[in-house]
Amino acid sequence: MQKKTVRDINVARKRVLVRVDFNVPLDMNSGAISDDSRIRASLPTIRYLIDHKARIILCSHLGRPKGEVVEELRIAPVANCLSQLIGLPVNAVADCVGQRIENEVRELKQGDILFLENVRFHPEEEANDPYFAQELAQLADVYVNDAFSAAHRVHASIVGVAKYLPAVAGFLMEEELNAMSKLLTSPAHPFACLIGGAKVGDKIDLIQNMLKRIDILLLGGGMAATFLKAQGHEIGHSLVEKDKLNLAKELLREAEEWKVPLILPVDMVVADEIKVNTVTKVVPISDIPPTGCLVDIGPKTVELFSNELRKCHTIMWNGPLGVYEIAQFAQGTRSLAEFLSTVNAVTVIGGGSSAEIVHEMGLTDKMTHVSTGGGASLRFLEGLPLPGVEALPNKI
Ligand code: ADP
Ligand code: MG
Repeated sequence: MQKKTVRDINVARKRVLVRVDFNVPLDMNSGAISDDSRIRASLPTIRYLIDHKARIILCSHLGRPKGEVVEELRIAPVANCLSQLIGLPVNAVADCVGQRIENEVRELKQGDILFLENVRFHPEEEANDPYFAQELAQLADVYVNDAFSAAHRVHASIVGVAKYLPAVAGFLMEEELNAMSKLLTSPAHPFACLIGGAKVGDKIDLIQNMLKRIDILLLGGGMAATFLKAQGHEIGHSLVEKDKLNLAKELLREAEEWKVPLILPVDMVVADEIKVNTVTKVVPISDIPPTGCLVDIGPKTVELFSNELRKCHTIMWNGPLGVYEIAQFAQGTRSLAEFLSTVNAVTVIGGGSSAEIVHEMGLTDKMTHVSTGGGASLRFLEGLPLPGVEALPNKI
């Protein structure tokens, strides 16, 4: 990677401000952390800093408090979770800037960990206010950005602060950038993209940027309906983005120009309604009833997609292939996730929902890389710069 990392600077005895993204999902009723994978993902950076005798100041956002203190979104439970994972005390403080916090930071000894309060309690964070960024910077001697999944945001703790301190990438940031850049610059061929999700509009830029790099494109999810419609199929009551029909036709054309086979489902699971315990049936795409909704890919499509993917050396998967939140409609997505965990290829999973499924199925370690950043990885693979990455200096 071209960006400087924690390995490239001396952190011993320094106050190190580490921007992490510990914006973890919280259970709506109990407030408990329902998935700690983002916290686990930054442990290597934090452990390295401890081993190298840094004084650690962690900073994260949690949820969307919109510039106000929201009791349910305090950082303390997250700090607690980290403390348990790392087996060391983590001191959660009541704010992220100001005299009191500066005093707390002054007390830090080598290897101590302090966790600043939710940075989005201050409206200046999302406004990328330069004075607020300076206040954050004032707490530390060095800035480490390990928050890949927030790197698409132009916020004070991600972009602003990097102007005022020696700034480097953490190990998670490095790993994410390496995995994603490899897909764009030097993937092992044949290279396949498997793309699902709700809408064509969300993935259009991704598909366009990948077409010139890939050897085959497999499409499922809600957007497959729009493509099937563009090819003249009956698609019942499925979600179709009428304004995107022409876009789908344009993409079919572009794929042809790039000589990339664009493979659509050959059978679908059709339901009367998108809800639990409804009647479903599997039909070939030539036989979709005018009243049904397409909720998942069918078993023949799973087989077809698996056979194509088996020939590939690199596979990027983004977006569920059906309405996976409802167990009855999750089979296609789960089968392909399971399949990807067995192939002898580089497998990179981007997209919030897709990553969640992989974690939930316990397959994370069987994939080459599961991104922690849905929006950030999408943006990166669309070929757009990530402001949080741009703000970090390159290696000389
Ligand atoms: P990711 O977060 O992995 O990038 P997206 O955000 O693009 O994925 O899409 C996830 C959403 O797509 C899920 O909420 C899922 O229910 C929805 N989806 C998938 N297939 C369909 C379908 N056939 N009809 C409607 N929604 C779908
Ligand atoms: Mg999503």
